[in-house]
Amino acid sequence: MRDIHHFINGKMVAGDSGRTSDVFNPNTGEVQAKVALATENELGTAVAAAEAAFPAWSATNPQRRARVMFEFKRLLEAHMDELAELLSSEHGKVIADSRGDVQRGLEVVEYACGMPQVQKGEYTEGAGPGIDVYSMRQPLGVCAGITPFNFPAMIPMWMFAIAISAGNTFVLKPSEKDPSVPMRLAELFLEAGAPAGVLNVVNGDKVAVDAILDHPSIKAVSFVGSSDIAQYIYSRGTANGKRVQAMGGAKNHGIILPDANMDQAVKDIVGAAYGSAGERCMALPVVVPVGKDTADEFIERITAEVDKLKVGISTDPEAHYGPVVTAAHKATVENYIRIGAEEDGADLLIDGRGFELQGYENGFFVGPTLFDNVKPGMKTYEEEIFGPVLQVVRADSLEEAAALPSNHQYGNGVAIFTRNGRAARDFAASVNVGMVGVNVPIPVPVSYHTFGGWKRSAFGDTNQYGTEGTRFWTKIKTVTQRWPEGDVGDQAFIIPTMQ
Ligand code: NAD
Repeated sequence: MRDIHHFINGKMVAGDSGRTSDVFNPNTGEVQAKVALATENELGTAVAAAEAAFPAWSATNPQRRARVMFEFKRLLEAHMDELAELLSSEHGKVIADSRGDVQRGLEVVEYACGMPQVQKGEYTEGAGPGIDVYSMRQPLGVCAGITPFNFPAMIPMWMFAIAISAGNTFVLKPSEKDPSVPMRLAELFLEAGAPAGVLNVVNGDKVAVDAILDHPSIKAVSFVGSSDIAQYIYSRGTANGKRVQAMGGAKNHGIILPDANMDQAVKDIVGAAYGSAGERCMALPVVVPVGKDTADEFIERITAEVDKLKVGISTDPEAHYGPVVTAAHKATVENYIRIGAEEDGADLLIDGRGFELQGYENGFFVGPTLFDNVKPGMKTYEEEIFGPVLQVVRADSLEEAAALPSNHQYGNGVAIFTRNGRAARDFAASVNVGMVGVNVPIPVPVSYHTFGGWKRSAFGDTNQYGTEGTRFWTKIKTVTQRWPEGDVGDQAFIIPTMQ
């Protein structure tokens, strides 16, 4: 049995809590490793290493820091296959999706290679007589990231690539369900030239998370995960005086107008609803066709597409998606399907419960599931399912359709499928959701824009990566200076607006 430890001060460090968590192979259901769960003291050791590394790292000039990111990018590319296989083996997503997971993180690393340009300050010459004003973005110190299971490569890199290239040092607490890729990223980052202690990985559960939230030396915490935990992280972290951003769950809607290109919409929605077994915060689990004809056509065509979906093990190159992450999550998803059919009274057109893959009967597979006539107020509509379950909510007008995502508790992403530019533009401007796709089913912004939802999909004010990420991981200092000549006498300082 493989043991997964912590990565502290440039070395693998065995856990000493005596507590571990099982890491499964979701294809077979077998336990393939045990990951250590850190104590408060172990977290403290990682913070001490990050604190010791901070003075030299923050004083390293930005271009040299960027060189480490360039080399890290090269190593990520060189190790792409290895990382994708490792990721699939613990998460269960197919190799193509795992490569995408690494790639989208790598793109944030590419952005971080340009940090000298992004981070440089502003300067005003002559803001008053002989007075210049300049501002600088300084790193915060030791920062922390707490990440979910569903993107074990991308989301850690959203955080540490920006934080570290800006001069901070970092403690990452990845998901205990698939911790091996984050550990490997830390090794590669060291190999790329980062000094020991700049990036540390502490594995663990609530004990480690609470220790992060309470540690006085940690200045900022970024979290991505489910909403109740996000809200808890935000409350406890900010109560302790930390800067906190906490991204939560999602229930993204895709609206189909009668004039949409239905071929494109159906193809896009199959991938966005069922890809990665629906375990994406930007998945599209709710579709809202406008008008009865649109809805009937959509149901007919999506049913045919779902019939063609192949569920397989994560290394099957022909599989569209693999197992969900754990047996517990499979049970949760199947229970939502039961509630949808039996308690909510929605029409269960395709039932993915009890799906068995020949030769992998103990794997955590859930078949593709389709509901029609889902309505607001139903438990399965209001809550996030996070599985391969697509729910169709019928609407009579664009106004009725647009109100659904706007009024939902989550506001991560939304998509509209139409050929009407004006309708799309007005929708994008008015919808109460943070990321909008127009004929784009999964509108995850590129690395030089920024990622973040609204309402219960995010707590805190700043988004992940891009300029917003740089703001989150730095604090601004503004200097007003003058160099009076000779006798100061009649040159007493006057604030320009007081003259
Ligand atoms: P999760 O909330 O269970 O876990 C996230 C992290 O919190 C993990 O590191 C976990 O160890 C820790 N954690 C779990 N329970 C805790 C507790 N009681 N106290 C303190 N820490 C705790 O989420 P998950 O199941 O790993 O990931 C799926 C969720 O993440 C979904 O809700 C999904 O929508 C969301 N997600 C959101 C985004 C986004 O950007 N908005 C991106 C990806 C995933």
